[in-house]
Amino acid sequence: MKLNLSGIRDTAGGISEFDFEERTVDFDFDREDIKNLGPVRVKGQIENLGGGLFQVTGQIEATADTLCYRCLTATQISLKIDFLSKFKDMVSESKEDEEDEEDEDILELHGDDVDLYPLILEEIILNWPSQIFCKDDCKGLCPNCGVNLNTTTCKCETNNIDPRLAVLKQLLKSD
Ligand SMILES: [Zn+2]
Ligand SMILES: [Zn+2]
Repeated sequence: MKLNLSGIRDTAGGISEFDFEERTVDFDFDREDIKNLGPVRVKGQIENLGGGLFQVTGQIEATADTLCYRCLTATQISLKIDFLSKFKDMVSESKEDEEDEEDEDILELHGDDVDLYPLILEEIILNWPSQIFCKDDCKGLCPNCGVNLNTTTCKCETNNIDPRLAVLKQLLKSD
């Protein structure tokens, strides 16, 4: 996922387009819920803004295998993420403009290649839904016996009550 900037490096206003796809993407972060990442398609453009600044804009389309939040069944999701990021050419950086850009989120650029890989992984993690369901009306697992209620009906459903209430019920019975 590397962009080569040699064509636009010395041309302010120069734009280079990219479009690439990876079948599977390796990730080294610790996320049990993400089983497989890919294919991931990234397309967009990088523009030389002048003054050693480059702006990347584009869209990520990613497919991933994960688990349903409620019933833990393997589920596939598709993400579409628009992103924008800036890179600063560390070679042409001068001391004066270091100050005023300090609070902006600008990534460092070393050499002619921009590796989008860490950026894309970060975008995917940031945009990862907090709860993913295999279907909108997923019934989840029985909190009592653990069966998947989408495929199995268990006997506990009727007396499926809060364990704290169960204690009360028990007390009432003994009275
Ligand atoms: Zn589910
Ligand atoms: Zn049950």
